[in-house]
Amino acid sequence: MKASYEGRMLKDLKMPTRKEVEEAILYSLFKHNGAIKEFSTGEEIVEEIANEFNLIEEQRSAYLETIYRKENRLKKSWLWHRLLFRAADALAKEKLVSRPSDTIKLTNKREWMLTENGYDKALKLLGIPTVKKEFLTIKSYEVQKIVKRFREQPRPKNYIPFDDIKKITKITKEIKLRIRGFRLAIIEAYDYKCSVCGMKINSPDSLRWEVEAAHIVPYSANGKDDIWNGLALCHLHHWVFDVGWFTLSDNYRILTSGKIHHLSSDYGKMGNYDFLRALLNDNKKIFLPESDKIYPHKNAIQWHRQNIFNQ
Ligand SMILES: [Zn+2]
Repeated sequence: MKASYEGRMLKDLKMPTRKEVEEAILYSLFKHNGAIKEFSTGEEIVEEIANEFNLIEEQRSAYLETIYRKENRLKKSWLWHRLLFRAADALAKEKLVSRPSDTIKLTNKREWMLTENGYDKALKLLGIPTVKKEFLTIKSYEVQKIVKRFREQPRPKNYIPFDDIKKITKITKEIKLRIRGFRLAIIEAYDYKCSVCGMKINSPDSLRWEVEAAHIVPYSANGKDDIWNGLALCHLHHWVFDVGWFTLSDNYRILTSGKIHHLSSDYGKMGNYDFLRALLNDNKKIFLPESDKIYPHKNAIQWHRQNIFNQ
């Protein structure tokens, strides 16, 4: 009886179908970088998805009334809220999203989060090729698991910044996930800023960040994809670091190549701003993550100083 009462209401009010709401939730997750708050009353996301359907006031405020005879109580439940929850629940059953009760164990936030399958489905709905995954900063449950592991692993004393496995394996799905985990862990740890200049900027659609996760021991030298071999750098500082214009001391100060002094004066400038020579200023310390457990490891830095840095 209850279901048909609800069904009738959904029909009478011309509410969107559950399938349509499921798609809207996937779209919304994509737009919010992979995670949205669980649906509680008054939560912005509840209104935001209603806006996607241009729901009118009557549709937004409709209630279902259930009488509990035993307790002689009338319970009102919000129709739109139920519809949203049912759609999200169906997505969770299909393993396209993780439930807030699971996500909280990873992120300490009660959120719905895309899984890798949900992420693929959202990309498909939006007509975006799957290869774009490597460039977007959208979270998925599987990638956040890797991020959490990177953050919580005990800091090794005798850290070896090389990964020998890379030599023999081809790029598997697992490695792709690890690379995305590496990227997200680094840029989150550095608050989406370049650790040298502090540049923080995303694309107007908020789906991409300018900052890059740089390997200290580079990928080409089998550098590890982990938090101790990484540094958040803007595109330009990444390039300048990779070619050896600067390196870091063991206490994270910037050391610059002596060759800067021999450069032609019109090199390394952005208009009037002397981008390259600005690195020379008072051997500045870079911006670092909040916790020193995830600072770059000195074994990685030393390797860069000895092998990449052009003194
Ligand atoms: Zn920078």
